Parts: sequence; C-alpha cells; structure tokens
Amino acid sequence: MQLYEHINGLGRDLKSRFGEKVHKLTINASFTCPNRDGTSGLGGCTFCNNASFSSKTGSQLSIREQLENSKPGMRAKRYLAYFQTYTNTYAEVEELRRLYEEALTTTDIVGLCVGTRPDCVPDATLDLLAEYQQQGYEVWLELGLQSSFDKTLDLINRGHHFDAYVDAVTRAHQRGLKICTHLIIGLPGEEPTDSLITLDRVLDLGCEGLKLHPLHIVRGSQMARQWKHGEIQAIAQQDYVDVAARMIQQTPWDVVMHRVSATARKPTLLAPDWCDDRWPVLNQIAQRLVAEGGQGSSLLRC
Ligand code: SF4
Repeated sequence: MQLYEHINGLGRDLKSRFGEKVHKLTINASFTCPNRDGTSGLGGCTFCNNASFSSKTGSQLSIREQLENSKPGMRAKRYLAYFQTYTNTYAEVEELRRLYEEALTTTDIVGLCVGTRPDCVPDATLDLLAEYQQQGYEVWLELGLQSSFDKTLDLINRGHHFDAYVDAVTRAHQRGLKICTHLIIGLPGEEPTDSLITLDRVLDLGCEGLKLHPLHIVRGSQMARQWKHGEIQAIAQQDYVDVAARMIQQTPWDVVMHRVSATARKPTLLAPDWCDDRWPVLNQIAQRLVAEGGQGSSLLRC
C-alpha cells in the first residue's frame, strides 16, 4: 500500500533489521487493570468496554497455544508476542517472568511487545524487560498515554497524569528500552491542536514508536452513555485524516509508526461508523502524505 512508502511503519522497521517479515501475534494473558480495582482508580477509562470486565477476561488457551494458533496464514517466519489485552505488567515480577518466558520460548518468537499503563511499570518490571533486550530479543514497551493534558486524562478517568508518563519513559530509557506511545485523536474536550501539542510533548521527551488511534465509542463504555445522550460526539473521518496526517508529518522519520488508525467491529463499535473499515481512512491519509509530504516532512521546512 502507498501509505507504507511515506511512513516508517513497524513492518518496514522490522524487515530492515531482521531481513525478513516479522509479524506481531496478539496474546490475552488474563491480566486485569489497576484502574478498575481501586489501585489506580475505579470504574476504568470512560472509553473502555465495561462489559469485558464483568466476565472472565482471559483466554482458555495457554500463551504458547495462542501463539501457535495464530501462526497459520501469516506470511512470516518470525514473530513478536504482543501482550495486548488490559494491563500486561499488572502482576508480581516473577509471575511476569513466567508469562513472558512462555512466549519467548515458543518457536520463532523473536521478541515482546508489552502494552501497559505508565503508572504500572515499577523498576523491577523494567529491569526484567531490559534483561530480555540484553539477551538479544526485540522488546517494545507500549505505553497508553492517550493525551498529555491532565484535564483530559481526568475527564476520561485515566487514573494517572502526564507526570506518570514522564517518569515511566525516563526510567525505561535509563535501561535502554524502546517506548511505543499510544495516542487517541478526538477525545472529548480536545481540539486538533491539542493532539499536535501532545505529540510535541511526547517527541520532546523522546519515544521510539507511536500508535495513533481515533476515539472509538464502544458498547458497554461510559462514553457510550454520554454519546447516546448527545454529550460527546465521535470524530469525523475527514477530521481524523487531517490531524493524523499532520501528526505524521511532524514526526521524525526515525520514530517507528506502529499504527496510524484503528478499526473496531460492529456491534461493539457504536461510533464513528467509518472505523469499521480500515482501508478508506488509510487511503485518505496516504493521499495526503503523497500530496503534501510524508513522515517528518514538515520538520524539513523552516
Ligand atoms: S483502557 Fe486500559 S487502563 Fe483504561 S480501564 Fe481499560 S484496560 Fe484499564
């Protein structure tokens, strides 16, 4: 796809370093979330699906089985194990070691991506991830920040502020770990310029990867109720394309773009409708980058 000629995507980055395609395989390791049980907060982020917490959250399969089951049909021979569901550092370090090592000892797994919150990465956990990196594994710490504005973080009940992100990134970088920061475009109360300010703050602090995501309003979330009552609105496709393209153009080429949009399936997805199809929005972002310049292009102009 044309988009990938104009961004430094994760696939390109991995292929250049491994010499072949490396794919991410998603794991549900039955973690929960400290923003639900009172450790960081209660009720969870307002965009998060409450229903998913009322039933058993984990997979019935072991980590090894989940990874092996995901491989068929993939056009790759090597893989990263992506601990994606909920807060994947929310356990004692010895339990984390057991889970991560089950993944790393599965055939053809060359590394880990660990999705978590900035306030849930104690030093011992970072030390463990750094240990795997020193052993030669590919390691990405994926931090959900969403916004750098404390006012927004309070509004969406994240249970942490920007200073928690600064602290997590500082300690991770002291250990040489790579950070992929997750940002949501279209959060309530935010203007497009707020997303660009958040990007500036994140880039100033330093990060190695970015994941951009439109706000999804999903069934079972607190936002679903707000949306039904007309208190919040979903972002329009054209607005998302505009902000995402500008963010990509302001991101230096050496920052790896793990994702520039995201989809969700109906009926879980309530709004925006366009988020149930990944290609139109990616094509529009690509057209913008072709016409105006790709990743990092606005940094070249003075
Ligand atoms: S989005 Fe993540 S941090 Fe927020 S409530 Fe859901 S699982 Fe917890």
